[in-house]
Amino acid sequence: MSRRTISLGDGLYDYMLSVSLREPEVLRRLREETAELAQANMQISPEQGQFMAFLVELMSIDKALEVGVFTGYSTLCVALALPPGGRLVACDVNEEWSEVGRRYWAEAGVAEKIDLRLAAAIETLDGLLADGQGETFGFAFIDADKANYERYYERILSLLEPGGLVCVDNVLWGGSVIDGAKQDANTRAIRAFNRLLHEDRRVSLSLVPIGDGLTLARKRGSHGL
Ligand code: CA
Repeated sequence: MSRRTISLGDGLYDYMLSVSLREPEVLRRLREETAELAQANMQISPEQGQFMAFLVELMSIDKALEVGVFTGYSTLCVALALPPGGRLVACDVNEEWSEVGRRYWAEAGVAEKIDLRLAAAIETLDGLLADGQGETFGFAFIDADKANYERYYERILSLLEPGGLVCVDNVLWGGSVIDGAKQDANTRAIRAFNRLLHEDRRVSLSLVPIGDGLTLARKRGSHGL
């Protein structure tokens, strides 16, 4: 019945969650604690967390990467979806926020799966590459400073195994991407990044209008899948 993506008003959004969201209680409490912060809008929506966990499960991922932890909600979603022995390298620079996440990761029993690296993510990613971990990750999530998206993406593409998936957050940027009056550095960076990805034949691509827009890019293999 629809030739384009449906618009979600509040009622339909609530309905969607009421028939699909399965948010573990520990995640709900982390989300509620984060909602008290002034930066609460940096947190992903629960249905997006569930979607990414679904992808991790679908792809049988055991080694994942995250750039931008904030208070660790997406980190916990992914870690819960990893099998025992799975590993998530999580990059951030903010000790205070990631400390919130640490409490919940421990409570959820997944702390040992999460390798939190408090440093500039570029340095961490370069370190992983220098350490011979190129083409060893199956899944990555980019949700950090927008000006560096392209730099994160290039490194992550090298770290992903062929067939690996990178999810990039905030690609619709609250609608600012189509507002010509918005010419701030973040908005311009996201527009440039979206154009770059559209042309990048190294990946298969889908922009999913969930949350603030989530681009899925799957690294193609040498056989051109
Ligand atoms: Ca985000």
